[in-house]
Amino acid sequence: MIEEFQISTKSREEVVVITRRVEEIVAKSGVKNGLALVYVPHATAAVVLNEDEPRLREDILNKVKSLFPRGAGYRHDEIDHNANAHLASVFLGPFVVMPVVGGRLARGTWQDVMLVEMDGPRTRRVVVVVLGQA
Ligand code: ZN
Repeated sequence: MIEEFQISTKSREEVVVITRRVEEIVAKSGVKNGLALVYVPHATAAVVLNEDEPRLREDILNKVKSLFPRGAGYRHDEIDHNANAHLASVFLGPFVVMPVVGGRLARGTWQDVMLVEMDGPRTRRVVVVVLGQA
């Protein structure tokens, strides 16, 4: 099953928790055991798996911004001034793959699925692919 939804981000950099949306799609898929891919078809956003805690979300954004500061002399900035967001997407990655066990995402207690926006505000597509045995 392949399904997608949209997220409208509100800031240039933002972490948006999308676990519930993904879990709804997994439940609807009818897959009991298999894999779920959560993917963003974007070059300046990413998907990560970590703890949904407000201060940690802030820490993630601060670390991404310090690792990939805006306007640090990147070549791509000659085109559209968002090279830092592209670089962050390269290093964080545009997807996560998770096991589906017993019809549910097999995630750890402190693992939530989060979209990391680095060039917002924009409308982002999130594609979820659920594969496995019904
Ligand atoms: Zn660009």
